[in-house]
Amino acid sequence: SRSAPSGVTLAERARRVIPGGVNSGQRSIPGLTEMVIARASGARFWDADGRQYTDYHAAFGPPLLGHNDPDVNAAVAEAGTRVDLCGVAVTHGEIQLAETLAELVPSIEKVLLTSTGSEATFHALRVARAATGRRLVVKFQGCYHGWHDSVSLNVISAPDRVGVPDPISTGILPEVLDATLVLRFNDVAAVRAAFAAHGDDIAAVIVEPVPHNVGCLLPDQEFLQALRDECTRAGSVLVFDEVITGFRHDLGGWQRISGVTPDLTTLGKAIANGYPIGALGGRADLMDLFSTRPGAPAFFAGTYNGHPAVVAAALATLGKLRAEPVHEHVYRLGERARAGIAEALADLGVPAVVTGHGSVFVTYFMPGPAPRSYDDLLRNDAGMFIGYRRRMPEHGIFELPLNLKRNHISYAHTDADIDHLVEATRAAVRDTLASGGTTELAGTATMGGAVAGGEGR
Ligand code: PMP
Repeated sequence: SRSAPSGVTLAERARRVIPGGVNSGQRSIPGLTEMVIARASGARFWDADGRQYTDYHAAFGPPLLGHNDPDVNAAVAEAGTRVDLCGVAVTHGEIQLAETLAELVPSIEKVLLTSTGSEATFHALRVARAATGRRLVVKFQGCYHGWHDSVSLNVISAPDRVGVPDPISTGILPEVLDATLVLRFNDVAAVRAAFAAHGDDIAAVIVEPVPHNVGCLLPDQEFLQALRDECTRAGSVLVFDEVITGFRHDLGGWQRISGVTPDLTTLGKAIANGYPIGALGGRADLMDLFSTRPGAPAFFAGTYNGHPAVVAAALATLGKLRAEPVHEHVYRLGERARAGIAEALADLGVPAVVTGHGSVFVTYFMPGPAPRSYDDLLRNDAGMFIGYRRRMPEHGIFELPLNLKRNHISYAHTDADIDHLVEATRAAVRDTLASGGTTELAGTATMGGAVAGGEGR
């Protein structure tokens, strides 16, 4: 039989017809540009050259049940025997999914489906402006909300750009970014000052309740509460972007964990284990502004919204998250991973903060305490962070070798996987240290802590 084409051959073909050879920013990784993905199952994926990786990157977070979950795939196949996209009226599945989301997520009274998280955050800001007649949007350093212009600011800025609007792309009208205020995460005083100065013109505050786009910054309870209080007082719309935290950390999202209820919530990623679906939900009076009746103030549409196959995937995913001890499993493995890695790095004498929440873990190479805002992360040694991750494939493990990226554990990972992860991390960090990893990698232009970009790049 003819042998399958190698990764080098396929990657070369990709670069001829796809700009940069990949279909989303941050899929083309320095040192890994010849990698082509061939197969994925459970906790693992395989490249076109037959190499196996235990996957902690997890496509930036969707496959909480593991890759190619058989129950989710069966639901998608079954939907295909009955119906596909008709693009008129509504299907039973969309009604069931909306009812499920309204039941699970505290802020959600009504909900609309999108195909991506970016569409959900786009419409959250649009409807906030429609509802308030105001212009400004407040966001926080370290948070990523998608690729659209209002939020297209780098989550990881050069040290001299912290606090300064730093566009993620050219081609954005400056007027749009001028309407976005960027504040420091966990900084209650900055929030109060922004509202004191601009409260009458703030349409929305959008926040990742846990900024996972820079690994993991855990929110102070008083910070989330201050956002709630200031928005209520000023009549601004509070948006929790739970695209990562929703379902992964709790079926009710971080809002259920924190007890702080936003006005609007955006969802995506773990909602359907990797099938393309997002959602925007919240207060009925806000969501009803999207009513399709003539004269409704806010417009909302999408050819693929509520596609029966992805709705079936979401229903099957949420059903399994409710029926099986998924959270118990991933929280337990997450604790084991953090404790094991912290102990291994302490043995090596490496200054490190091993943090995260539940299934998410990340190791920053910096002295403690745990970072509370993005500027604390400027102390992370990017050379070590990226350096050990570049060595993990030698141990059959994949963690995305880009600065400040988090890792994810799924229901398909086992205790044995975590034991292997801890020992591989120990070896990879030791080898990075031995090769003078910090200087070797930190010197490279594309590797420094100041690399631009969110996950959309
Ligand atoms: N919000 C957050 C918190 C995200 O992490 C992402 C994606 N990384 C988005 C929004 C955008 O979602 P999508 O890539 O599906 O458009």
